[in-house]
Amino acid sequence: MSHTTGLVYDPDYLLHDPGEYLIRYSEHFPFDEVEPHPSGPVVARRTHKLLSAMRYLDHLQLLNPRYADTEDIERVHSREMRTRIERISATGGDVGIGAPIAAGGERIARLAAGGALVAVDAIVHGDARNVFGLIRPPGHHATAEQSLGFCVYNNIAIAARYAQSQHGLKRIAIIDWDVHHGNGTQDIFWNDDSVLFISIHQDNLFPIDWGKVEHCGEDNARGTTVNVPLPPGSGNAVYLAAMGEIVLPIMKQFAPDLIMISAGQDASVQDPLGRMTVTVPAYRQMTRMVRDTANACCDGRLIALMEGGYSNYYAPFCTAAIIEALMSDPPEIVDDPYSPRSEVQPGATIVSGDQRIALDEVKHVQWEFWNL
Ligand SMILES: [Zn+2]
Repeated sequence: MSHTTGLVYDPDYLLHDPGEYLIRYSEHFPFDEVEPHPSGPVVARRTHKLLSAMRYLDHLQLLNPRYADTEDIERVHSREMRTRIERISATGGDVGIGAPIAAGGERIARLAAGGALVAVDAIVHGDARNVFGLIRPPGHHATAEQSLGFCVYNNIAIAARYAQSQHGLKRIAIIDWDVHHGNGTQDIFWNDDSVLFISIHQDNLFPIDWGKVEHCGEDNARGTTVNVPLPPGSGNAVYLAAMGEIVLPIMKQFAPDLIMISAGQDASVQDPLGRMTVTVPAYRQMTRMVRDTANACCDGRLIALMEGGYSNYYAPFCTAAIIEALMSDPPEIVDDPYSPRSEVQPGATIVSGDQRIALDEVKHVQWEFWNL
């Protein structure tokens, strides 16, 4: 059994180009300013640079992704969706709703999904104990039929289905801490009790009306969807409380063969698309908590896949702290470059009344299925 941490990365991931973004102020008072799309390549590129500067790359098992093949994609997505994406990829364009790609972008999306598959192989074959996939485009908004919200193919769902069908891992637990709700992943596994899906997200941010606390799966899969919507402003204290009081106890009772993290770092205090206040130490600590749970439940088998995270300055440090926590012996400890300013938010240390109510509401719904 390897004790190393794997890193999936390929410079070709930087070729995924969602183009430019138009900020339109108003019809009557036009303020049209074009700027780079928030899901551009900067965060991934800087994260990789930071890992190099910290000498992490020397200590990680570097894993080259492959292109997911059609069979891999179609374990999750419809043929109609795949062929539509391939058709649009000839010229570039929006392959769903708010999921723009450049010409040839479908190949990069396959490389992202294939990166997740390589992570599964590495863990099953013992090449790595756990793996971080520094992949893009992200995936968790993509449903079986529809790309959405910067996401083309649902990488984590494709990896989960692959782990089950090709490697016989029966039970998969996914924790999605991207600030947005992982609607695609939830929808794909809504009726499937072999996959536990837990999402911590900003309440009703995106997509609207998804990720409600009472949404908990259907039929025999009731209880294998767990939604933890938190109020805007939530920070380290309530995130760690949610992990300790809800996520980890449910994961342990579910007894997974593999744990995966939809690791979007857009709940960070610096993120332009979220309104949460999570900082570097909490990303480190949340990862340690999941890592320890994986060690206790499933021989340490843990895969974290990059999702969102739009602060070009701060998200790379959050991701580096996650990778640090996955490594058994990191050469450096990631500092918060904005400390102590990052920790001045009250949410860093205090679970407020509305946040406590939010956690209690989740427990109230999930008591039917789990001991909490
Ligand atoms: Zn997000």
